[in-house]
Amino acid sequence: MSKKKHCNIPIFIPELACPHQCVFCNQEKISNTFSVPTPNEIGVIIDSYLETIPKSAEINIAFFGGSFTGIPQQKMISYLKVAYKYVVEGKVQGIRISTKPDYITNPILDILEKYGVIAIELGAQSTNDKVLVKSGRGHKFDAIEKAANLINNRNFELGLQMMLGLPYDNLELSIQTAKDIVRLKADTTRIYPTVVVKGTVLEKMYKKGDYNVLSLEEAVSWSKEILKIFNEANIKVLRVGLHPSEELEPEKSLVAGPIHPSFKEMVLSELWNDVLNEKQLEKGKSIIHVAQNQLNYAIGYKGRNRNLLQTKGYDVKFVADKNLKDFELNVCHN
Ligand code: SF4
Repeated sequence: MSKKKHCNIPIFIPELACPHQCVFCNQEKISNTFSVPTPNEIGVIIDSYLETIPKSAEINIAFFGGSFTGIPQQKMISYLKVAYKYVVEGKVQGIRISTKPDYITNPILDILEKYGVIAIELGAQSTNDKVLVKSGRGHKFDAIEKAANLINNRNFELGLQMMLGLPYDNLELSIQTAKDIVRLKADTTRIYPTVVVKGTVLEKMYKKGDYNVLSLEEAVSWSKEILKIFNEANIKVLRVGLHPSEELEPEKSLVAGPIHPSFKEMVLSELWNDVLNEKQLEKGKSIIHVAQNQLNYAIGYKGRNRNLLQTKGYDVKFVADKNLKDFELNVCHN
């Protein structure tokens, strides 16, 4: 049976006049770089996407880029009304939004429900109060828990996004955050390592020596531990790591931080290294069967896992097996 293709139509709505001062965020840069589309303009954006997306696909309109429910209510409703028209006409299947936990209340959920929102992603970032305070999030864990419960009491898909390496964070606290995200019954998550962006409070802290940014190796290794928790709990991981974008290049906005075009591949490769180390392989020739979509990760980023095994005296060949699930393996010894 072929899986239905899923497509999101992204509508970037940077938060208007956000009253917060998250230490990692350069709001001025965001608002100077991106203009906010008007409700009328989003209709044009949606139409142009619809021309290129196959009709058979499962299509969602995704409002992202800020705290959607933090914008003035009438403005939020006018965006939703435009998007909802496409749901009613059957051109898209639903609307997704991202927001901050303290901008979720029952009256807001009433509005989202009324206008066809099916998925709400919260930027939880951490569940540790000290990390949240030191990161300037403007709320503590109780706000995340309350928002998640309110969302779970209704029929929305819940996403809880987390950041690694925020001020005061450590691996243990990040693991606790992942476990809390599981406990709060998230359906989806995203894992982002913290980077230092120009013009932020974090940049000042970093330059004064008050903040240590994660190295690429640390970020990969932490992400791997976090990913194991989400995989075990069957939580869909929508994203791992930040990709270098034009804006996040060293000469432009990026001051420091673990950004790499193959970040996810490196994380999955490390995860597979652990899986292979746990398996009792026999010296000599073996064929390792893994799921098709895991083949490159099992072999490892730049062949690292296969090379490591070879240096230890294992003569391995990896082959794809369509009957296996992610992170499952079958070993045949010759
Ligand atoms: S990251 Fe923080 S400061 Fe930046 S827009 Fe979101 S809530 Fe506001």
